[in-house]
Amino acid sequence: MTTEEWGKFCKEHNLVAIDVNYKDMTYEDALNYLDLINIAFSASSFKKDTPPLSFDYPKKLNTARKYDLQTGKHEEYVLPAGATNYEDDMQKKVSCAECGKKILYGMSYTSRIIQSYNGIGYAVCRDCYFKNDLKDLR
Ligand SMILES: [Zn+2]
Repeated sequence: MTTEEWGKFCKEHNLVAIDVNYKDMTYEDALNYLDLINIAFSASSFKKDTPPLSFDYPKKLNTARKYDLQTGKHEEYVLPAGATNYEDDMQKKVSCAECGKKILYGMSYTSRIIQSYNGIGYAVCRDCYFKNDLKDLR
């Protein structure tokens, strides 16, 4: 990628990229740099509580976010093996993202509390959906 291409990529994805050579920096330069970092962070955290994208993102493939209906906060959640938030095959056996029970994807409910980092609900069984996901609506 050229510098121009990288710049274009950052613009397309709302990224603020910062290049710094601290060896030639004065104390004042470093303070200005700190301001830039703060701007970069506020630009990347447009969605509160969403962790900024990082390079260890692939390690998090088996994790999702669990939304607490009482506190309104998200916490990291480790998914059971076989959990999914999208399939083409309605007959596919998948795991309920909450209890891990095997269910048909076509019979699953979309969770309101177990979501991917970009907000897509995972497939859950009927029991979990009514017991856990609708807790705040009863
Ligand atoms: Zn379940």
